[in-house]
Amino acid sequence: MIDERDKPEPREPREPLERRGRGVSPGLGIGPAYVVDRREVNIPHTLIERDDVEEELKRFRAALRGAQDQLEAVKGRLPQGEHRQILKAQQMMLRDPGLIQRTETWIREELIGAEWAVSKTVDEIRAKLAEVGDEYFQARQYDVAFLGERLITTLGGEEKDAINPPAGAVIVAHDLSPADTSQLSQAQVAGIITEEGGTTSHTAIIARALRIPAVVGVADLLSAVDTGDLVIVDGVHGLAHVRPTPEQIAALEVEVERYEAFELEIAKEHALPAQTDDGENIRLRANLALDDENEVARGFGAEGVGLYRTEFMFMNRDEAPSDEEHYRMAKALLQRWAPHPVRVRTFDLGSDKQCRSLDMGEAEHNPAMGLRSMRLALRRPEQFLAQLRGLLRAGLHGPLQIMLPLVSGLEELAAGRAAIDEARAQLRELGLPHADEVSVGVMIEVPSAAITADLMARHVDFMSIGTNDLIQYTLAIDRDNDEVNYLYEPLHPAILRLIKTVCDAGDRHRVPVSLCGEMAADPRYTWVLVGLGLRELSMQASAIPVVKNIIRASTLDEMEALAAAVLACDTAADARRLVIQEMGERFPEHLQHAAGVDIDIEDEPISSVGRVVRE
Ligand code: PEP
Ligand code: MG
Repeated sequence: MIDERDKPEPREPREPLERRGRGVSPGLGIGPAYVVDRREVNIPHTLIERDDVEEELKRFRAALRGAQDQLEAVKGRLPQGEHRQILKAQQMMLRDPGLIQRTETWIREELIGAEWAVSKTVDEIRAKLAEVGDEYFQARQYDVAFLGERLITTLGGEEKDAINPPAGAVIVAHDLSPADTSQLSQAQVAGIITEEGGTTSHTAIIARALRIPAVVGVADLLSAVDTGDLVIVDGVHGLAHVRPTPEQIAALEVEVERYEAFELEIAKEHALPAQTDDGENIRLRANLALDDENEVARGFGAEGVGLYRTEFMFMNRDEAPSDEEHYRMAKALLQRWAPHPVRVRTFDLGSDKQCRSLDMGEAEHNPAMGLRSMRLALRRPEQFLAQLRGLLRAGLHGPLQIMLPLVSGLEELAAGRAAIDEARAQLRELGLPHADEVSVGVMIEVPSAAITADLMARHVDFMSIGTNDLIQYTLAIDRDNDEVNYLYEPLHPAILRLIKTVCDAGDRHRVPVSLCGEMAADPRYTWVLVGLGLRELSMQASAIPVVKNIIRASTLDEMEALAAAVLACDTAADARRLVIQEMGERFPEHLQHAAGVDIDIEDEPISSVGRVVRE
């Protein structure tokens, strides 16, 4: 089942090769490849007799217990921390009623064997997750696939072997399971390269936590590498060099030395505030979506949670979460992050985030502009109120903030606030303890909301700019469409003006404004964002140390000067050139340190209109 490649047949020496993927854990590593290929799990396609149904169900339930025990055993071998959380999440998935009931239905009604039934259920769940455009949910499909694989091997009477790379190896795999990654350590592994996976995959999370350089999403890798081939993993630029030349190795050594010195330097600041050289405090908070990311985020020095995405709670199940689940989730977060605030976003489903636990209605012609986010919540009052009741109850345990997504105007905001009042009234009637005062705010993701931020500001406790969607809607660019991705431009004058408009409105009405889109995590934009007036940035936690170091080394004056210059640019190309020149000169290492940040300034004339698209 576990088909780790045997020693390859002797063959002609193969050419050096460079492959591009996505750098998800910065750092550089070199070592012999240790190839793990687990794409082929043998699934017996057996039909059973009606009389054998009970026996088959028993076999399935025994496999569920067996898989639980295996995960427990792996967990027991690990120290406390985020690795254990990841295995716990896997164990919870094994108890998921959606997975269990669906598999049992296949066995009972279609009379198919347990292995086949598991694989069909897993395929269904994966297909649903894959439909979701959001990278985070896409990544979860690999977790489900690993669980399915574990169950099928357990049904066949086997246990999944642990991988056992020699010290200093670079793991090369189609993908790694959470159990695999949680057994790795920095001492043992020089890097990880996988064909699958995204920024929020478990491989990425663990690699970042263990500070193992990692590149994911490298196409057709396994056919190009043999165990023992020398490999360089460049998690900064998202590159894999297979069988590097002596020149590439020499260049790497210089890079590694520089990189490690820089790492040490910024790590010293984890516990220090993100305060500019002239005393302005900037709050750096974490964007989270899963329990197991909490400890990682704390380790990177996040001062609370600036965006908790609750969508995952609704995925991969038949019923929407109950009040109690929302309550327990938010209470646990508050206890973990005390005394810092935790900002929970109510469910932002619809459009690219589909799930079966909410009735999503008819397929839409234009889902990004359809029944999604706040609009969907207002049409599904039962589930929305359940979430709000859970959150209001949790509000007793700490500084909880409720954030309403994709609000386009005052009417939607008023309707959202009315729902919060209604949930509160219901709790009062039920005699359930809850917070009377909870901070309520909106995400500013639609141009109409940004332009009317002064009106919004009168009715909220905070505003948070979601640039991922704001750019999509302002520039009319589907954020998941590769064909138009070249137009996705955070420094477009329209975007900069909208951010400034929101910051100014917040200022005038004394309402704090934060920014929680991907832009916040990109060190190229730190000066511009603070210079435009933002005093809170929320981002993937691993980006915090670099952004903090930039802030601590800068003055507000210089940030404001760059923001003003950028605001005066006619085109995004001019703004980009200016920002990269300034930031590249002042913070070359920071820009090189951030995974996946492009710092090439194209050879285009100043004030060029548009960009040449090369096929
Ligand atoms: C955003 O749109 O910027 C945002 C943070 O929300 P999401 O990426 O979850 O849509
Ligand atoms: Mg959004």
